[in-house]
Amino acid sequence: MKPGNTLLGQGGTTIFTVMSALALTHQAINLGQGFPDTDGPADLIDAAAAALRDGRNQYPPLTGVPELRRQVAAANQRFYGLDFDPDREVVVTSGATEAITACLMALLDPGDEVVLIEPLYDTYLPVVRLLGAVPRLVRLEPPHWSLPREALAAAFGPRTKAILLNSPMNPTGKVFDEEELGFIADLLQRHDAYAVCDEVYEHLVFDGRRHQPLMTLPGMRERCLRIGSAGKTFSLTGWKVGYVSGPAALTGLVARAHQNLTFTTPPNLQRAVAVGLAKDDAYFAGLATDLAAQRDLLVDGLESLGFRTLPSGGSYFVLADYSALDPVRDDAAFCRHLTEVAGVAAIPLSAFYVDRAPAHHIRFAFCKRPAVLDEAISRLRRHFSEFAEAGAPEPALTGSARSF
Ligand code: PMP
Ligand code: GLN
Repeated sequence: MKPGNTLLGQGGTTIFTVMSALALTHQAINLGQGFPDTDGPADLIDAAAAALRDGRNQYPPLTGVPELRRQVAAANQRFYGLDFDPDREVVVTSGATEAITACLMALLDPGDEVVLIEPLYDTYLPVVRLLGAVPRLVRLEPPHWSLPREALAAAFGPRTKAILLNSPMNPTGKVFDEEELGFIADLLQRHDAYAVCDEVYEHLVFDGRRHQPLMTLPGMRERCLRIGSAGKTFSLTGWKVGYVSGPAALTGLVARAHQNLTFTTPPNLQRAVAVGLAKDDAYFAGLATDLAAQRDLLVDGLESLGFRTLPSGGSYFVLADYSALDPVRDDAAFCRHLTEVAGVAAIPLSAFYVDRAPAHHIRFAFCKRPAVLDEAISRLRRHFSEFAEAGAPEPALTGSARSF
């Protein structure tokens, strides 16, 4: 038999699914895959339920229901002063995941180069490769994750079509500042390139920081496609409603890609998300304040156990260096061990690098109820103190857990 698609055949199951399954098997607290453990706002859920019952259950318009497109445009204006025509410059997608693929399809021809920044979200590289485009990887390194300007500039060339930029960034929690964005904007202009801006964590930004879309910088309005996710903004990750805002010349192509991927997104969920985007500023501020408190709770607990956490300015995630607790295991083996033996799941940082990942770092999700975070810390404390009391190093796992 002829094999199926080679690239897909070579790829494994996503780390988020692998670790969630392992957490389930071992009844571990799942601080791996990033999803809140409480439902989003009740009024959105009520709006979605009501929308199911009022007779608009056939195909909605290709680019999204008008009320959601209007609210996406209004939110762009309210939060960033960006002006979009809701009829021509907004496309609703089935999650940011689809939006990322649709934007890359909209921009790339085979052979085009795309600049990607490591650590990178797991769908970026496979999609770029499936489209026959050529990834040019630039690495950020802990603990500061500063932009390596020379390496970034060197990654751009005559064949560069786009950069894919994730800010606030998963898994680092880095929020790109205006100077860094300015450097990227300058490269885009000099090389006549575009940016796909994955801004799913736009409203999850902490400590008085502000998320700034690359698109707000001079000259960037025509070069950027900005992606948002209702899953993150309304703590409803299973809904899979995303939205792309951009110049009509590009969103027209995104719509063509979308028509070949899913064509539309469930209309009741779209209409409920429209209700969400119209919420007052206090909702958005409260979301970030609550999450920052959850981050602090987890960070304090991890630090007290001997993890060294890295600053997280946004997103659902904090990275922790565990080398003082276990200098031997690699990050994948350590995550597997924590899940199976300590009863707490996390994600190895190496899942976000193609190779040579910084050693001994794992990602914890803090988008969980405080009582759950407390219980996770208690489990870890029990686990590490048992071994400390026994005075013996923990038994190393045989083999590598890097099978995923
Ligand atoms: N981009 C990043 C950086 C993410 O962390 C996620 C996580 N879920 C997505 C995109 C996908 O978002 P959605 O669930 O809306 O598809
Ligand atoms: N974005 C989520 C994370 O980083 C996972 C989403 C998924 O499982 N596809 O944890």
